Amino acid sequence: GARGTAVLAVRDLVMSFGGLRALDGVSLEARSGEILGIIGPNGSGKTTMLNVLSGVYRPDSGTGTLLERDLSHQWGRSHVIAQSGLARTFQNIRLMDEDTVSTNVRLGIARRPGLDVHTRVRTLLTEHRLDWAADIPVGSLPYGVRRRVEIARALAGEPRVLLLDEPTAGMNPAERQDVFDTISDIRSGGVAVIVVEHDVAMMRSFCDRLVVLDFGRKIAEGDPDAVLDSKEVIRAYIGS
Ligand code: ADP
Repeated sequence: GARGTAVLAVRDLVMSFGGLRALDGVSLEARSGEILGIIGPNGSGKTTMLNVLSGVYRPDSGTGTLLERDLSHQWGRSHVIAQSGLARTFQNIRLMDEDTVSTNVRLGIARRPGLDVHTRVRTLLTEHRLDWAADIPVGSLPYGVRRRVEIARALAGEPRVLLLDEPTAGMNPAERQDVFDTISDIRSGGVAVIVVEHDVAMMRSFCDRLVVLDFGRKIAEGDPDAVLDSKEVIRAYIGS
């Protein structure tokens, strides 16, 4: 779709753990060709939001659409949501360390009649500047490269929405830059990217839009500079 089309939209999400409302009526939308950042102090509900969006958790209530299809029967069903066009990465990289980069990426490909899987793997590796690593076992690669392999595998299924949970945590500046370049390329391809990161300064320069959570509520949304300079957001971070 055209840049700016809402490909994922959720409304009034509520998710409780016992008596605690980790999400307390949050709405947001992700648009094709943009990087949406979700920020907020520790415990504000960022990870819970990613887990609801990707079907790891089933929310108590709320509605949503993914590519204009109703999500209400898909909540909590991560495989169904993945097949509907949403992929994610995890805080702790989940790859098969004993297997090569090629094999890991190949496993992310959704097979369909007529698809030349071998060529598709080569193309993905080239796009992600990973050709050189094709035959290397993932476990022996540096952390930053493994993260890029994980992203390549997530994109192998041709998702329209990609969720990235702290994609640059624990990286050195050069590795971070590599991951940022990769994410910018993904945006150019028209995918809606949702990123959760702790580093607010980085998110200011990197994201097209920000959503700020605090105690499970959305307290601000919009242009990163405007959002991060708002009193409410500054107060939330100082209070934490
Ligand atoms: P963030 O990612 O912004 O740090 P989380 O979504 O991890 O926040 O957590 C939001 C709130 O929900 C926190 O108070 C946290 O302790 C609580 N929480 C998150 N996951 C669980 C869980 N599986 N069981 C109980 N409480 C949880």
